[in-house]
Amino acid sequence: MKYYVLFGPPGAGKGTFAKLLVENHGYYHISTGDMLRKEIAAGSELGLKAKDLIEKGNLVPDEVVCGMIRSEFAANGGVRGFLLDGFPRTVAQAEALDKMLSEMGDELTRVVSIYITDEEVRRRIKGRALVENRADDADDEIISTRIRNYHEKTEPVINYYKAQGKYFEVIADGTIPENYAKVEALVD
Ligand code: AMP
Repeated sequence: MKYYVLFGPPGAGKGTFAKLLVENHGYYHISTGDMLRKEIAAGSELGLKAKDLIEKGNLVPDEVVCGMIRSEFAANGGVRGFLLDGFPRTVAQAEALDKMLSEMGDELTRVVSIYITDEEVRRRIKGRALVENRADDADDEIISTRIRNYHEKTEPVINYYKAQGKYFEVIADGTIPENYAKVEALVD
């Protein structure tokens, strides 16, 4: 089984590339952000807990997202492979993922990281706010919190995977098709 992580700051295009990879390669897409937004829309207990954190630009607790990932793996055994989008976002999540995979007798295939500058993060999120109706995209202060959380909590994940030789980075400074071609070249 292949397990890819699509990594990068908010607005890097992880969701866009994941959808294209699903269409072209048949992988199963797991987006913790999409799953959390569905829980919020459904008004579930989990959604109620996550709503405030997400709308302020903060991360939800590691145990919550790790539990969601574990259930997705268990429910989708027959697929070709998984594309994880927006997970892991902390070193603790990366460690939990390694543990889950090793318990299944498997391991992560590789991390495909999409690099854009903070300035580009702001520009893209503002563009997305005009199209999608996400509360966490609409406000400068919330975007700053998300960028700060990315640098403080998520960026250390890069070294975690570099140490395993599993980290591959794409500089996403071109058009969507150009950037996608670079991402696709790193996926089987
Ligand atoms: P995304 O759609 O990936 O940008 O995620 C939207 C929001 O959901 C994030 O800003 C976090 O509040 C929350 N979230 C998504 N994935 C995770 C994760 N792996 N760990 C913690 N919080 C997450």
